[in-house]
Amino acid sequence: MRTNLHPDEALVLVLDAASEAHRYLAREQIPLEHALGRALAEEIRSPIDHPPFDKAAMDGFAYRKGEPRSTYTVIDAVPAGRASESPLGEGEAIRIMTGAPIPLGATGVQRVEWTREAGTDAQGRPLITFTLQEKITNIIARGENLRQGELLLSPRILQPQDIGILATGGIAQVSVYRKPRVCVISTGNEIVAAGTPLPPSCIFDSNGPQLVAQAQMAGAEARFLGIVPDREEDLRRTLAEALAASDIVILSGGVSMGDFDLIPKVLRQLEVEPVFHTLKMRPGKPTFFGRRDRVAVFGLPGNPVSTFVNFEVFVKPYVLACMGLDHTPRTVRARLASPLSRKGSDRVEFHPCTLEKDELGMLARPLQYHGSSMITVLAHAQVLVRMELGQERIEAGEYLNARLIRA
Ligand code: AMP
Ligand code: MG
Repeated sequence: MRTNLHPDEALVLVLDAASEAHRYLAREQIPLEHALGRALAEEIRSPIDHPPFDKAAMDGFAYRKGEPRSTYTVIDAVPAGRASESPLGEGEAIRIMTGAPIPLGATGVQRVEWTREAGTDAQGRPLITFTLQEKITNIIARGENLRQGELLLSPRILQPQDIGILATGGIAQVSVYRKPRVCVISTGNEIVAAGTPLPPSCIFDSNGPQLVAQAQMAGAEARFLGIVPDREEDLRRTLAEALAASDIVILSGGVSMGDFDLIPKVLRQLEVEPVFHTLKMRPGKPTFFGRRDRVAVFGLPGNPVSTFVNFEVFVKPYVLACMGLDHTPRTVRARLASPLSRKGSDRVEFHPCTLEKDELGMLARPLQYHGSSMITVLAHAQVLVRMELGQERIEAGEYLNARLIRA
């Protein structure tokens, strides 16, 4: 087991475990309408040309481009959804709506705004005069967007536009990874659930509901196994249940070096192999990571800001990577609005900041906060700014990549 690890090294170990778990994560076929937020497990190639036929990009008149004339006889009208049966001859035009197939023989569409009605010909057919010359064809060619067999979509978390792209190809079922099953456990004698009275010396459980929500946001299926007191038998029972029922177990509390911090010991009894315990990181020094077979166990410190940040830095990448997805955090380039300084630089520090905008771009403004129990700082924080080992100060105005923590 590694101790006092740099968080970047710790992340490598976490991702190693995730890539192994990825090999065993099952896939399932689901209907497209249930696929939002799911991890697409396959490359999807287009079964059709898109668009499937040459079509009009404008309401107007289909005609033979390049004829030396400006007045045409209108021989038919085609709405979207059907093709004209009349092939287009010299001097003829067909009224056409956006999305309708281009009639045989036509090579361009004159937009309706650039036409004027010009009475009828000898047979009483309507005439139309073009008032301006189109430079472009206003035709979207068959397969111009995508050819049959070309890549429609690569694996990713499916967002609404991805659903649209798949539907464009007529895809009604997709193969996605099964959501990793996460069990969340809160520990501590002093922790009680919201919705119950608050006894003296106790605090409400914020980590449990928050971790469940974070896990769901990351694409996992999360279940809360409850609040467990700092008692070996209770912890062992609940942890054994969690290990049997999940791909990922997340605990909060009980991993520091206090007298009641029993988690590492109980995990050892349950044959969880410790990978690391303690990091050069603030918040989150006592973080534990271990494995039993293909189950990953994260023991996060109980302080709510630590719990939040450590989920972001380690658990979320694990969840994404075990579904084979990119886990790179989203960042924004910003200038620091006021200096960040600290005494001692033996830990990588993640500092919550607001995000503002001025005439030069984005500004990250450090939030005052006194320790990682101050969870309300997260109500204002949009980003985390990272201070490296050996870095005691970042000056105002310095550019940095701030890590986004809000959707
Ligand atoms: P621990 O990591 O167990 O030493 O807890 C560190 C601090 O976080 C203590 O002040 C705990 O009361 C607090 N804490 C632990 N678990 C939770 C929780 N589930 N919700 C809110 N605060 C917690
Ligand atoms: Mg505790």
